[in-house]
Amino acid sequence: MNLESAVKYFSPKSLSITTESPCTADDRLTATDIMGALGMATAKSQFGMALFFAKVDLSQEAKEIAIAELTRYALTQAPKYLGKSVSGRQLGMVVKILAQAAYAEYVNSPDADKECPVCKGAKKINGIGCKHCKGTGLVKNRCQCHGSGKVIDQVRTNKTGVLTEKICSRCNGKGFFKIPSSVAYRAVSSIVTELTQSTWSRRFKPLLDHLVIKCEIEENFANSTIKKVTK
Ligand SMILES: [Zn+2]
Ligand SMILES: [Zn+2]
Repeated sequence: MNLESAVKYFSPKSLSITTESPCTADDRLTATDIMGALGMATAKSQFGMALFFAKVDLSQEAKEIAIAELTRYALTQAPKYLGKSVSGRQLGMVVKILAQAAYAEYVNSPDADKECPVCKGAKKINGIGCKHCKGTGLVKNRCQCHGSGKVIDQVRTNKTGVLTEKICSRCNGKGFFKIPSSVAYRAVSSIVTELTQSTWSRRFKPLLDHLVIKCEIEENFANSTIKKVTK
């Protein structure tokens, strides 16, 4: 069993396990087995489990735990990356911004919201509601390929007469776009006012990238723990 099937055993609002499973992914396992397995996996990898449940949007509590854990981890990595460029209260605030930005990139998907590119999140243009985002200030982070990552290969389709698809070159087949790091740069430079673009790229951006990878590693770890204990 992997995390995706384990999700079915969780009640959506809290991080607790429900014994009335809607559909049993694996008939060999009883609810008790699964509760035991998830309990053990959570004990071994609370961070990874929280990340995963936050990602599938099951729990607000999981999201808070995940960001708090990531912030704590980021603080341990900060000296190596940031050196003496920030310290004290500033450091705490910067690390929090970077952890939040890394989390946003980790959960990023075609269904994630992003700032409306037309009104820049302001919801209105010259006092009139923005038409592009219907006045919400947000749009889905979906590529023009409708988030599928595939587009029709016109050349091949014309040549062969068979409808052929190819990987979308706009999003590289992901179906959505990376959150530009300029968003985090702007937030950090509101705290570290003297921050230059080159210091950002040399010190802060690598820490941000490292945090996104850390999330993926932790999720994989939780996933392999689940697989191991339910084997
Ligand atoms: Zn708009
Ligand atoms: Zn695309």
